[in-house]
Amino acid sequence: MTAPTAIGANDAASVDAGSECTPRVVVIGGGFGGLYAARRLARGPVEVTVLDSTGVHLFQPLLYQCATGMLSEGQITAPLRALFKRHRNVATVLAKAVDVDAQARIVHALRSDGTALQVPYEHLVVAAGVQQSYFGHEEYAPHAPGMKSIDDALTVRRRVLAAFEMAESLPTAEQRRPWLTFALVGAGPTGVELAGQIRELAGHTLREQFRTIDPEEAHVLLYDGGDAPLASFGPELSRRAACTLEGLGVELHLKTKVTGVDATGLEVEHEDGSTSRVQARTVLWTAGVAAAPLAAALARSTGAEQERDGRLRVQPDLSLAGHPEIHVVGDLMSLSGLPGVAEVAMQGGWYAGGEVLHAVAGRSTGKPFRYRDLGSAAYVSRGHAIVSAGPLKLSGRLGWWGWGLIHIAFLTGYRNRAGALLTWLSTLASGTRRELVFPAHDVDTGRAAFTGSASTR
Ligand SMILES: Cc1cc2nc3c(=O)[nH]c(=O)nc-3n(C[C@H](O)[C@H](O)[C@H](O)COP(=O)(O)OP(=O)(O)OC[C@H]3O[C@@H](n4cnc5c(N)ncnc54)[C@H](O)[C@@H]3O)c2cc1C
Repeated sequence: MTAPTAIGANDAASVDAGSECTPRVVVIGGGFGGLYAARRLARGPVEVTVLDSTGVHLFQPLLYQCATGMLSEGQITAPLRALFKRHRNVATVLAKAVDVDAQARIVHALRSDGTALQVPYEHLVVAAGVQQSYFGHEEYAPHAPGMKSIDDALTVRRRVLAAFEMAESLPTAEQRRPWLTFALVGAGPTGVELAGQIRELAGHTLREQFRTIDPEEAHVLLYDGGDAPLASFGPELSRRAACTLEGLGVELHLKTKVTGVDATGLEVEHEDGSTSRVQARTVLWTAGVAAAPLAAALARSTGAEQERDGRLRVQPDLSLAGHPEIHVVGDLMSLSGLPGVAEVAMQGGWYAGGEVLHAVAGRSTGKPFRYRDLGSAAYVSRGHAIVSAGPLKLSGRLGWWGWGLIHIAFLTGYRNRAGALLTWLSTLASGTRRELVFPAHDVDTGRAAFTGSASTR
């Protein structure tokens, strides 16, 4: 094993080498929380190291469009290095934080080749987000990819498009049916958005491209244990979303629990306790999230309390109890029931960055974090989206315009904004999608295609 190396103030990997008197702030995670914390810190007399295991900022709200061939990976991501190129006091490091020694104030991390790295800090902002949760059934994961990363999106894109290809090559309707059945678990925004996009793909984009199958025949089944899709948007918008989904041909299975997933389908338990099996060669999981594993390490090191899903309980100023030098922001924090949405992460990151700058200046604001709820939006299908912002409730085409404006406004980088806008307009005008290429191997499992024996079928 290689001995760990440290990034110190004089290390070539850090910016402003030699500035030993400048306080060092480490930000773990370059998602919404980490990005906004680092942007605020970039304006102050501190040396910032942003540690991220992917090296990119990902705009998760548009992942499903990447998964269904609308947008490219490059249009919904931005390299952190490029985002901070003008901020000489911000360095980015591609590494995964695995532990925090809160006594010694050192983050222990792994580089991409598995070698160890130590990063000392005086202030730490942790914004490592959450990951997909299978509620203790990790065995579902290889059969039902989630939707949290670019790898997930490419895996989903491959599975969905390859399923149509498989169906095209099979001789009987009975053999084709499981390949043309797409089951989604979880009717929150991601499940609804994905279900709508798969139906659109089948009904618009792929129309006339196949000779044996009619992609329009694809069955899209959306399962949820609750009694409404997009329940967090309230009963009226949820009802309108359900009508739009049904109009699109998405089959809603509410009050239905998924109790098993394997390579050929899923087991479900209905409201009355009866169970059934559904043959579906594509199962996608958007049902739950749990804290990134780093949260447990941080809890051990600081004594911080965790929720059942692993999120860390923070003080009103987003710091960990007894550790004013450690702030936790975004999806990973738990405070007063705040939701795991981008706005909470952005506002929390900005606030935490400000708190660090005040501490460095020897001042304390004493002001707790206050979240300003700007509302939420979800895309249902072409021409239909819902937006809820205070008393404003939009759906249908008006909601769709609202959704588009919000996403363009928040997408990171001018090029990505312009690129996404042009792609949407050309998709609208032509009904085609540009990003229908998919990797030959399964991005998640690494399993290669075409590994069977040609003589068996
Ligand atoms: C598919 C999808 C759709 C969504 N749609 C919406 C929406 O429409 N509106 C909305 O408001 N919210 C939406 N959300 C939620 C929103 O994206 C999150 O609330 C937000 O991304 C949280 O920001 P964060 O910074 O806490 O975490 P993230 O954005 O998840 O960022 C975490 C970062 O930490 C890095 N990381 C993780 N662990 C480590 C480690 N150990 N070491 C180093 N780096 C690490 C990751 O690589 C990542 O870059 C959606 C989420 C998903 C998954």
